Amino acid sequence: MSERTFSIIKPDAVRKGYTGAILAEIEKAGFKIIAVKRLSISKQQAEGFYHVHAARPFFSSLTTFMSSGPIFPLVLEKDNAIPDLRKLMGATNPANAEEGTIRKQYAGSIEENAIHGSDAAETAAFEIGYFFAGYELA
Ligand code: GDP
Repeated sequence: MSERTFSIIKPDAVRKGYTGAILAEIEKAGFKIIAVKRLSISKQQAEGFYHVHAARPFFSSLTTFMSSGPIFPLVLEKDNAIPDLRKLMGATNPANAEEGTIRKQYAGSIEENAIHGSDAAETAAFEIGYFFAGYELA
């Protein structure tokens, strides 16, 4: 069934000039790009986005990284979008990511790993609403 997921092209990938290549991978994999924008977020806004990770030891480092430069939040649609995007992204640590995945090709480290993707329907709903207003998804 057609479903929507949320993704972010992270600051490391944007800095390295991989935005277009990653968008092309996403489209080639059959996702429709419903919404996209470029913006920079504050550390506080990154903390709000990643609130579920607040207790993790890497929380401060992660939110500093996510606020270190422009990002591209995306809303994507296809059948099974949530699991299929996770598969296309590859493992969190690019060293463990499968050949051909976005993280294998474009990520530099476990933190600076090029792309975010929602892990469940409830997370996707929260994350889409965090970055996009309803009229931007019409
Ligand atoms: P994801 O769902 O694959 O993005 O991974 P998680 O939800 O577990 O973690 C969220 C993000 O935190 C990851 O994408 C990384 O950017 C970062 N991260 C995860 N694990 C680590 C870690 O062990 N160390 C550091 N520095 N960052 C991490």
